[in-house]
Amino acid sequence: MPLEIAQHLFGLGATVGGFLDVSTAPSVASRLASVDLTAYGGSLATLEFVGRLISCLFLFAFGACVGSFLNVVVYRIPAGLSVVTPPSRCPTCGGRLTWRENLPVLGWLLLRGKCRFCRQPISIQYPLIEAAIGIVFALLYLHFYILPGNHSTTGGNGSWLSALVLPWWKAQGFAWSWPLFVAVLLLVAGLVASTIIDARHFIIPGEITWTMSGIGLAAAAVQPFFPVSGRARLLTPPIEQVAPTTCGVALGACFGLLIATILLKTGVLRYSYADYDAYVKPDDPRSSYPFARRETLREIVYLLPTIACGLIGGWVASQWSESQPPVWLGSVASALFGFLIGGATLWMVRILGTLGFGREAMGLGDVHLLASVGMVLGWKAAVWTFALSLPVSLGYAFLAFCVRPFIRLPIRELPLGPHLAFAAILTLLLTPTLRSFDPTLADVFSAAWQGFRIKTGF
Ligand SMILES: [Zn+2]
Repeated sequence: MPLEIAQHLFGLGATVGGFLDVSTAPSVASRLASVDLTAYGGSLATLEFVGRLISCLFLFAFGACVGSFLNVVVYRIPAGLSVVTPPSRCPTCGGRLTWRENLPVLGWLLLRGKCRFCRQPISIQYPLIEAAIGIVFALLYLHFYILPGNHSTTGGNGSWLSALVLPWWKAQGFAWSWPLFVAVLLLVAGLVASTIIDARHFIIPGEITWTMSGIGLAAAAVQPFFPVSGRARLLTPPIEQVAPTTCGVALGACFGLLIATILLKTGVLRYSYADYDAYVKPDDPRSSYPFARRETLREIVYLLPTIACGLIGGWVASQWSESQPPVWLGSVASALFGFLIGGATLWMVRILGTLGFGREAMGLGDVHLLASVGMVLGWKAAVWTFALSLPVSLGYAFLAFCVRPFIRLPIRELPLGPHLAFAAILTLLLTPTLRSFDPTLADVFSAAWQGFRIKTGF
């Protein structure tokens, strides 16, 4: 029964609705502040503090609900089960949980960690994940909106923490930026889920990555309909707007991707590695797939409509270069461009790696994962995530090597996905610092381009 989903949704709705209500309190308070309130003493500060505290509690509850759903996702998706039905039950005896026992964290405490029917212990992993996601959501809220940040456009004199926060969030305020913020929260939750599944089963389920991408696209489409606060107008938004021609490229390429996917689903194009199971036996470590290079050609054919339509889209947009696209279209195209750059970066590595080594390099799940990071955080963040995933994986290998005599970490077995997820979270938290490198990078590229032009006389 979708009763449980309804319960989750109800929890989500109640929390989102609740904290929206509360978080507008500070903005009401600031409007009141234009009135002389000195007579009221500290009551305004108290109101603001209470508002923020309640917002934090609501975000914790929201996170715990998402964490509760993640528990279902990381267990059921790899097992090929539906995440909707049946409702939660005891894994040992199949006893059904009541709605109170289903509450995140509280339910486990209520049962004192034991099944009501068979008295078998229920893993502490469930309340731990719920509480962890709840705490992460509340901390991200504090980090983005409450902690002392600096609001200057040039950066400078804030605390060291403020150098980690993109000032746009605080300037725009929660009430007018929650679609993008919720997309960021759910991206983090999705990264956690895909890390757990990838580390255990070596797959990144498309259900997770496509959900994250879909939420990112929806947020990019909704956000432009919110007013932009005066201070935020001067600041760089979380997803940087791309130029009109680039919008054309992004929209065209996504149209091409859609066509290629329809051709794939209808059987006109063939899936790559369709006969993989005929060659690779799980119980035979010597078996390997012999046609990896040939399958790469199949993937290039799949990508051709995307490239062609992207070029056509860019050309069409360049014909109207005088006029800017509508704001919401620019926002959607910027998110789509991030999706494409994220996906293209890893797919290029996959194609080159497979051609070079003659065996499948990097899973398509990693490609989808970086694409969803690009959709939610923008194309530069996708590139940074890829760049940071290299030092992150080296750091992990080094750490695993150092602690090997004491703890056995899965040193060779850990796939790329968890490293990508960790790098994406680093990118999210270091956005302002990473953006300060952008001009340097642009200089390096333009110097290289100038050198190339002089050398070739182009
Ligand atoms: Zn039981």
